[in-house]
Amino acid sequence: MKGDPALFRVSATLAADDEWSCGMRSAVKARPGIKTAVKVTWPSMLLDEMVPGFVADVLDTVEFDGLGVDEALSRRSAAGKQVHAGLLSYAGIVATQYPYVDSGDLRAFRPYWVARRTEDPVPPEMYAWGRRYQTPDGSRREFRFLRLGSTQGRERDRASIAVAFYTAAFGVAAHWPRRWDEPFEALDDQPPVVEWVTIAEVGLADGERRVLEEGPPGLAEEYFAEHGRRRVASIFAGAGPTPGGVCGDCKVITACPTPIKAPGLLGISGGRGPLRKTSATDLRYHDACPAQLHMDRILHLPRDNEYSLDAQRGNAIHALLGARHGRGDASPCTAEDLAVDPEGWSAGRWQLTGEHAAAGAAMLAHHRGVCPLAGSFPTGWARTEPSLSFWDTAANVIVTASPDLVYEENGSWVWREVKSTERERWYHDEILEEFPQLSLALLILHRGLLGGDTSGSRLELETLRVSGADVEVRDPNDPEHVEVARRVISGLAQPWHVDRLFPAKPGRACQSCAVSRWCPDSVGPGADSV
Ligand code: SF4
Ligand code: SF4
Ligand SMILES: [Zn+2]
Repeated sequence: MKGDPALFRVSATLAADDEWSCGMRSAVKARPGIKTAVKVTWPSMLLDEMVPGFVADVLDTVEFDGLGVDEALSRRSAAGKQVHAGLLSYAGIVATQYPYVDSGDLRAFRPYWVARRTEDPVPPEMYAWGRRYQTPDGSRREFRFLRLGSTQGRERDRASIAVAFYTAAFGVAAHWPRRWDEPFEALDDQPPVVEWVTIAEVGLADGERRVLEEGPPGLAEEYFAEHGRRRVASIFAGAGPTPGGVCGDCKVITACPTPIKAPGLLGISGGRGPLRKTSATDLRYHDACPAQLHMDRILHLPRDNEYSLDAQRGNAIHALLGARHGRGDASPCTAEDLAVDPEGWSAGRWQLTGEHAAAGAAMLAHHRGVCPLAGSFPTGWARTEPSLSFWDTAANVIVTASPDLVYEENGSWVWREVKSTERERWYHDEILEEFPQLSLALLILHRGLLGGDTSGSRLELETLRVSGADVEVRDPNDPEHVEVARRVISGLAQPWHVDRLFPAKPGRACQSCAVSRWCPDSVGPGADSV
């Protein structure tokens, strides 16, 4: 690492307490002057993937240039990278229903509000990304976070609100820096005398505006002291590296010793590209419909009909077993552990009623006979749903995985996935082909990427049915199993790695597609061909 660490910059986004975040990544991200000796190359994708930026540009054109939404979309689409049809459709809808300010004396305000807390030992430069409005005399300001979905989603992190509140109350108007490692360019030495600040968020998917906090600058100061200061200090202090999916967009990766290197894990030929990330689920999505992967997993457009009733039951079973296996004592599940009311039960955020509750209860009861923790390994320990990540340095891809359970048996790791189904058989004869996540798991075990004694490792698929339960085992040291797994993963990864346009593949996948609302190519439920 090299460069000048003096500039310490915290945005409202960085301040958000993200469960996937890595303390070291945040600390470096907050110091734009820090560089790594080996620069990370980022994907120069053909398609525009910056959804908030794209939408904001369209709103800017409407609010500052007075163009209609259609003209604004055309102008923005012609100006930058190619735009996926799904993003164009989404942006058109959200820009039409956006709650523009059209009464009172608030006006859209283009510059950023940037505040420096000079009273702090290391004054952070703070700003918030979103929409800004103020009265001509600057006495009243409104900042709006943009949410891709609805305002009914997850509560916004208070540290993030605190940074936005503080910068709206005390920030000076400033231009975006010419270079990211330079400070924002202030337009005034002094901010106007702000008397009232409103912090709101707009759910772009429904056009709703919700006020999060409002009050005079004194309240913003108190709010920041209570909810923001400690978080900003912890970003400054940094923390040890926590590898995960975030490594896929971390500028420190070339200098960080933590990500486990796994050259060739994906079996991609054609060389190393810019840093990207994927998972078995992503690859499966891409295979079903590249546009679905792009809109759902890359652009993160809002989802509908996210989970079928079967999927909800599966998730409830996962949540319950995860809680039981994660107790920390690696003790096997008892009948009491697994007993739920067949008329209705819940686990995690999943609630089941009627026949799904009854089927789920019956499936759970069968788990006891195949509980992985009922083995004879009292010294072993278990980890439920760990976030694993590996860096395929040959393809330059971060590969993530989250097993239902990995547990240690006599010094070797065993990887267990659990499926629940009312079907009597799988579509494929080979479970490694049916579930690409199993193929990826087998390759991870085969390479010993979890450590331990690989000679005793195995992969298990536990299937829970209403009529009973069974466990199928695959050996990561069996060349035939390894060959199948390699074929499955490289067969999915290769087309994904070269895809730049993510075209729609209308057909069967449309029936359960969570982003079909934004897709102009959807053939909707009822399609039965690919
Ligand atoms: S590479 Fe991963 S673990 Fe290392 S700093 Fe970046 S996000 Fe953290
Ligand atoms: S609606 Fe159909 S074509 Fe469109 S993204 Fe979804 S699966 Fe693909
Ligand atoms: Zn169990």
